[in-house]
Amino acid sequence: MTNAFLRRTAVTLAALLALTLALCSGAFAGTTLYSGKEKPKYVFLFIGDGLGLPQLSAAQFLFAASQGKMGEDKLLMSTFPVQGITTTYSAETAITDSAAAGTAIASGVKTYNAGIGVDANKKPYRNFASMAKDKGMKVGIVSSVSLDHATPAAFYAVSESRNAYHEISHQIATSGFDYFAGGGLIDPDGKKSKAPKGNAFEAIKGAGYSVVSGRAELQKLTPKSGKVMAMNDRLPDGNALPYAIDYTPNDISLAEFTAKGIELLDNPKGFFMMVEGGKIDWACHANDAMAAIGDLVAFNEAVAEAVKFMKKHPKETLIVVTGDHETGGLTVGFAGTKYDNFFTVLQGQKVSFQHFTDVVLKDYRAKCGGNFNFEDMKPIITANFGLKFEGDAAADRTVLKDFEIAMLKEAFNRSMGGETEKSKDEMTYRLYGGYDPLAVSLTQILNQKAGLGWTTYSHTGVPVATAAVGLAAETFGGYYDNTDLFKKFCSVLGIATEPVTLAAN
Ligand SMILES: [Zn+2]
Repeated sequence: MTNAFLRRTAVTLAALLALTLALCSGAFAGTTLYSGKEKPKYVFLFIGDGLGLPQLSAAQFLFAASQGKMGEDKLLMSTFPVQGITTTYSAETAITDSAAAGTAIASGVKTYNAGIGVDANKKPYRNFASMAKDKGMKVGIVSSVSLDHATPAAFYAVSESRNAYHEISHQIATSGFDYFAGGGLIDPDGKKSKAPKGNAFEAIKGAGYSVVSGRAELQKLTPKSGKVMAMNDRLPDGNALPYAIDYTPNDISLAEFTAKGIELLDNPKGFFMMVEGGKIDWACHANDAMAAIGDLVAFNEAVAEAVKFMKKHPKETLIVVTGDHETGGLTVGFAGTKYDNFFTVLQGQKVSFQHFTDVVLKDYRAKCGGNFNFEDMKPIITANFGLKFEGDAAADRTVLKDFEIAMLKEAFNRSMGGETEKSKDEMTYRLYGGYDPLAVSLTQILNQKAGLGWTTYSHTGVPVATAAVGLAAETFGGYYDNTDLFKKFCSVLGIATEPVTLAAN
């Protein structure tokens, strides 16, 4: 290409771009707000962390394939009458983190990644959950991850950093909200804080909350119990609920926490409840499609509880389901499978990458006493992931090819050698992303055999789907930014739709 060509092309492109901008900037400007007289009394916001269209699509293809059908068998959100597309970029990057995304949705301002309830200049803002509380509505915050994690925190806390878990958890006590449920707290004692404020659970109890753990205690709660913080007994990683694929009968599901929330929050002045499916994201960070789909199913069951409630209050309920960003760069399609998919291959997976790392591999390490041998691992892999070492790979998609076995053997050796640290060199990072090398290789190979590809261990910058049903649902159609979700919710709740700063402290 000559310089003249490049110059000419640049001029033409610039002219086209200018024309396009002129055409678009005027057309249909501004986001749809709700102006109806009747405001919904019961408002639900479900956030699938890391839930983009690829996660939804892969799950829906698998559900259909598992019944021998082509096409997508829809989750509830896909059946909602109003569908929107929501952009997710942060103030500084095309790829947001959960803190900036949560802040955009809850407070209506763009911020840097890690900011909770502050704008890009660290100026604090109010979230609309607290404004709903001021209106007399009850407020519930439910998450499958710890309650001081970025997404739930954006709905009750202000913090310059999402990592200030201790300071964030103390804001549960001062929120005045009615129901916190799901995971626990990461730093209740302030071990990582420069200025510990004392045990956060004690502070929460001191503010009048009943703090309970386990199903028996959860079931005892009634609308007369007052303010509540409820957790699952078992919080195996990061003080979060287990992955749904690893649930045991004693584990409280996201749907159970949601149903209890509805029971406790129901009152004549109405309520707002935010429910987060937080581990869809964690599974996608680890490139584990089946763990993500399991948590998406658990999330869908929580949405079903709201739909059940809406059937009793059809004219007074609004349900909105969205994602805060896509995670993993998942797609339906992979180089090795071209135009084909073999979704049901995924069903051979019985445990999450996390359970495989923390329980199965830990047990093996303890038993082998340093004498590790890949031959021992083969039946363990087949039992947990359905991948076979013998057979005709052309006829049976679950049979591993020689190069896949070589990749697993290499990963096994690194795994047994203790290589689980955030990989220092880029080549190793690209292979394993800082996860257990064998666990992450197994889910990647299984996913690839199903025809699913991953591009990153982080988030991506593509927009997400937002779906709505019920009174004022039409407000949520269109292509709009995540900060517009704040405005839309404010208009639905009958409060001013511009972001509100908090007095500087
Ligand atoms: Zn997120």
